[in-house]
Amino acid sequence: MMHAVEVDPRRFCKSGQSWEVREDVAVFPRLSLEFTQGGLFCRVVGEASDAGALSLRIEIRGDVALSCQRCLGELPYTVDIAHALHLARDETELERLDAMPGCEAILVPARLDLVALVEDEVLLSLPLAAMHAEGECAA
Ligand SMILES: [Zn+2]
Repeated sequence: MMHAVEVDPRRFCKSGQSWEVREDVAVFPRLSLEFTQGGLFCRVVGEASDAGALSLRIEIRGDVALSCQRCLGELPYTVDIAHALHLARDETELERLDAMPGCEAILVPARLDLVALVEDEVLLSLPLAAMHAEGECAA
């Protein structure tokens, strides 16, 4: 199992650090419960604007397999996530970011586990009910 990769998100962004990993889904504590097989490439890049605004650029890609909730057979699924998560430094900035269309923001935490972040992103992107299309299901 993969261990937590804890960073100080302020420092991670301000010094433009990045973290990337290419691993089998079986080593992710929570993803291993969702996916029967596959691998993921994950990259998180910290960025700070000239004005000091912090954000993380998150990329997660890979071909994995879920279990179909109707027939329990294997259901191929492609993970393809690429977006920015803004780290607001205070409530005022968070409100301003939240008001921007399509902008995803959280209050900057003291510590951030990059493995948990990647898992959250993947789990949120999954369909509520993963099933084969009509006619392709064994049930
Ligand atoms: Zn099915």
